[in-house]
Amino acid sequence: MNVDVAIVGGGPVGGSLARALAPTGLSVALVEPKVPRPLPATGFDQRVYALNGHSRRFLERCEVWQRLSPQRIAPVREMRVFGDDASKIEFSAYRSGVSELAVIVEEANLQQALQSTLSAQANLTLLTGIECVSARWDESFATLSLSDGKQIEARLVVAADGAESALRSLAGIATRIQEYGQTGVVANFRAERAHRDTAYQWFLSKGVLALLPLPGNHVSMVWSAADAHAQDLLAATAEELAKMVEQASSGTLGRLQSISAAAGFPLRRMRAARLISPRLALVGDTAHNVHPLAGQGLNLGFADAQALAAVLAARGLESDCGAVSLLRRFERSRGEDLLAMEAVTDGLHVLFDSNLPGMRRLRNAGLRFANRISPLKRLLVKRALG
Ligand SMILES: Cc1cc2nc3c(=O)[nH]c(=O)nc-3n(C[C@H](O)[C@H](O)[C@H](O)COP(=O)(O)OP(=O)(O)OC[C@H]3O[C@@H](n4cnc5c(N)ncnc54)[C@H](O)[C@@H]3O)c2cc1C
Repeated sequence: MNVDVAIVGGGPVGGSLARALAPTGLSVALVEPKVPRPLPATGFDQRVYALNGHSRRFLERCEVWQRLSPQRIAPVREMRVFGDDASKIEFSAYRSGVSELAVIVEEANLQQALQSTLSAQANLTLLTGIECVSARWDESFATLSLSDGKQIEARLVVAADGAESALRSLAGIATRIQEYGQTGVVANFRAERAHRDTAYQWFLSKGVLALLPLPGNHVSMVWSAADAHAQDLLAATAEELAKMVEQASSGTLGRLQSISAAAGFPLRRMRAARLISPRLALVGDTAHNVHPLAGQGLNLGFADAQALAAVLAARGLESDCGAVSLLRRFERSRGEDLLAMEAVTDGLHVLFDSNLPGMRRLRNAGLRFANRISPLKRLLVKRALG
């Protein structure tokens, strides 16, 4: 098969890129081994994402947003972040002049909506249930070998195959990795008290605990904890885990009841040395991983997809969509955003991971200070909203 663009990896970033390329007139193939999970009939998906305004507008333009199950989306209208003394900082959509600070969407909801949009897309070949097993780059095209024995020739290959990307290694692109020694433990709960569309986050000596609102009185937890503590959380029974979360969150939402099994994700910071090489572009988690404490990994990935689609749409008289000049334009357009987000999430991680008394005083004082300065808060909200 011959196409202009072959995207390897149909996760949220690869899938949305395929959709964003629809108006460019380019022929596209999307290779993804997994079939999208159905939405759970009861309860919620274990994986949920906090998406900012940029991501929402991008999904709207891609006509994916319109296909999400609306009753499964939860708005975040308030955000409360607590230090490990009584310090806190609060953000409000109302006071920021916006309808919501973020939206919480289940991964299965997003993948189902993507799949239904993509299956109707002209100029797109969906290769689901198939894996890319090797790749070769020549001067005028790249060749991908697939697990069904077939091959794809493409002017441009996009690696969207996730943090452990085989394509990135095949292309010889190095990575800088910093292991955090932490695991992100996720689970969903029913809460006794209404969350009132509020996202909570506690910076504790036992890690960073976030409770994100889900429809009804439900919340989704992300507890970024040192590996040993994460093992305790994962080994706990449903009742024990609910009790641990209740205690760590000072009973803010009353009694909690587990409604899903817990799962753990090792956390690390990763940055690919380059976003491009001849006839290859990296997007999403293939290009960068950031700490989930700011909930920005997928937001960054959507911004990559949007940037690459914009460069390819504006290619003008350039007939080769894998041309180095286009790829360089894409890489340049992402540099500042990626650096800024890494610096913010890493800075927060360093500040809040330390138990040195001086550092604890500094961060708690910082939260109180920032909470009193309205322009600073507005700036933080603007940055988070995208
Ligand atoms: C605990 C936790 C909480 C998070 N919360 C948030 C949040 O609130 N907001 C946010 O913005 N981000 C969040 N993130 C980050 C977010 O999960 C990732 O940034 C996002 O999933 C990346 O999407 P992706 O499409 O780049 O990669 P992936 O979702 O990893 O998709 C990669 C795809 O490639 C496919 N693939 C792999 N190998 C091959 C192959 N050989 N051939 C073909 N296909 C292949 C895989 O099957 C997969 O579907 C969180 C992360 C963690 C760990």
